[in-house]
Amino acid sequence: MLIATRQERTQAIVDAFYKTHGPCCAGCDWWRWHNSLVGECIRTEPVTGEQRFAMLGVESSSLTPSAGHIMTPREHVCGEFKDEPASHDRAAQAASHDTGGA
Ligand code: SF4
Repeated sequence: MLIATRQERTQAIVDAFYKTHGPCCAGCDWWRWHNSLVGECIRTEPVTGEQRFAMLGVESSSLTPSAGHIMTPREHVCGEFKDEPASHDRAAQAASHDTGGA
């Protein structure tokens, strides 16, 4: 019996969303998911922690967010969307994640 890891399950959810939704962050080569709903876009320069979570509708937090790449919801899409055939090995991408969760 094959037991999928959490990363494999999350990747499968993200891939299925992209397949049914069409072009979006979930299927973009620039996106690194943090869970099945949100991830960070590595296409642009890192920003302050406050700016990082603005697209998710987070206006204030009891935690101090760290600077980094902008977080986006999986359904978002912009003009920089890219899905190259060579990057379809999502398992390799998933293996590069050190955080996850479905
Ligand atoms: S669609 Fe745009 S915002 Fe989303 S991951 Fe790709 S480049 Fe970033």
